[in-house]
Parts: sequence; C-alpha cells; structure tokens
Amino acid sequence: MVGQTTREDGTWFECEACGLLFDEKESARQHERTCDAEEPTYIQ
Ligand SMILES: [Zn+2]
Repeated sequence: MVGQTTREDGTWFECEACGLLFDEKESARQHERTCDAEEPTYIQ
C-alpha cells in the first residue's frame, strides 16, 4: 500500500512495505509494483 504523510516540507507518499518516501504518488505506486519488501520471508 502507498500511504500519505504530511510534513513541514510538504506531502510525501510512502511505500508502507519498506518505508521509502516519494514526492509523487505515481512514483510511489510504480515503486510498489517492484518493491521486494512485500514478500514475506518464510524461508531463509
Ligand atoms: Zn517499497
């Protein structure tokens, strides 16, 4: 999921899986599609 966070320096969009911040929602959504952090690590 992409979250939204507001700070002093503006509004940021956050990848809730890994915590990366983006200044554009579309950038966050594109990242989310390729984000590895959503995959649960069952097996080591
Ligand atoms: Zn991510």
